[in-house]
Amino acid sequence: MTARSNSNSVNDIASLIHPYTNLARHAEAGPVIMTRGDGVFVEDDQGRRYLEGMSGLWSTSLGFSERRLIDAAMRQFEKLPFYHLFNHRSVEPTIELAERLLAIAPKGLGKVLFANSGSEANDQAVKLVWYYNNALGRPQKKKIISRWRGYHGVTIASGSLTGLPGNHADFDLPIANILHTDAPSHFHNALPGESVTEFAARLVDNLEQLILKEGPETVAAFIAEPVCGSGGVIVPPEGYFEGVQKVLKKYDILFIADEVICGFGRTGNMFGCETYDLKPDIMTVAKALSSSYLPISATLVSDDIHAAMIEQSRKLGGFVHGVTYSGHPVCAAVAVETLKIYEERDIVGHVREVSKHFQQRLRAMAERPHVGEARGVGLIGALELVSDKKTRTPFDPNLAIGAGLQARAMDNGVIVRALRECVAICPPLIIDEAQIDLLFDGVEKAFDEFERTMQAA
Ligand code: PLP
Repeated sequence: MTARSNSNSVNDIASLIHPYTNLARHAEAGPVIMTRGDGVFVEDDQGRRYLEGMSGLWSTSLGFSERRLIDAAMRQFEKLPFYHLFNHRSVEPTIELAERLLAIAPKGLGKVLFANSGSEANDQAVKLVWYYNNALGRPQKKKIISRWRGYHGVTIASGSLTGLPGNHADFDLPIANILHTDAPSHFHNALPGESVTEFAARLVDNLEQLILKEGPETVAAFIAEPVCGSGGVIVPPEGYFEGVQKVLKKYDILFIADEVICGFGRTGNMFGCETYDLKPDIMTVAKALSSSYLPISATLVSDDIHAAMIEQSRKLGGFVHGVTYSGHPVCAAVAVETLKIYEERDIVGHVREVSKHFQQRLRAMAERPHVGEARGVGLIGALELVSDKKTRTPFDPNLAIGAGLQARAMDNGVIVRALRECVAICPPLIIDEAQIDLLFDGVEKAFDEFERTMQAA
């Protein structure tokens, strides 16, 4: 099926695929209201139960009923429900959290700055890059290169870093000094006949050309998710990050790793940086830091950046940055407990074990007539939807095929997420093999129904 010019016929076909796909009806139906959760399941106000195959927003790593996290929050609420980190003050759980984070973080990261969301953590990273270069006396070295399909948040700086046009449109983003380079998706962006290795080498060369065109003395940092999440679960091609890191080193450009989705086991290692041998100067984390039970995020910086920050702050009379709730004690107490659980239950080992089955079920779906690619690593994956497999032609976006599949999956008791032209799956890290089967059985049923309606249309 290809593009339809008439919007009524688009809606008719979309309705055929699933009634919720019709936008007007979707608005009429209103949101699905979730009321409770247990383990990897959630339940809505109509009593319907779903296997949460997206961990909420790629985030509820320990599922929806981890008693220890609730108790950790209550203990801290009773002891000290709030105190700030300004004016030479701190709080015990936040200090413990910083120590625990640094103990597991990639080598070379030496200090932690807390915030409340992934967007803020990335905003802080941008500010720190600028502050650092001012401290080093290179005020012209300020540009930050991000990637198309990257997702880094929605605040003014992080929304600018995000490489999805929908996040920019009519918000007057991106701001100055933020540039975008290629998305590392061989499926979408390879030239005809180009091998994965050739593709990776071309992207690395394009990055270098962009740096040279802009002037290396003006380029301060490069930001990347180890695996792009919201941009369509783009797994980096072999050799890509190796080449990128060489180029960054050559031109003295900092590497910011956005681990907001990949962090804490998702890819089968504690951080995506380990999975892809990344050596970041700055790393941002959020989401699974607290299993998303409370909002907390962090920006980790290298000792070099920290030293320059201290020096500059001495000159200026202080490091004038921070928000009221940075390192909030209750959020930090929950995050400390989360990290303890990861360690005690060997969550990384568990992910390595069950992800074999997850990836096998995911990849089996590549046989389906409208799945152009099944890709993923660890417990994250996506199914690329195509109208024609041979030519890799996507469906007309107006048909909202992904949204229809998402709705059908919900009818079959599983939550997955439609992202542009793909369906993403990213279950809680505690999922077991039987639940992985339940998840994929629901997804397969949704695809069966969809394929039947495609034949009828
Ligand atoms: N970075 C990545 C990789 C993300 O996936 C997200 C959110 O999905 C963010 C940053 C922004 O985090 P938040 O929504 O907490 O601001």
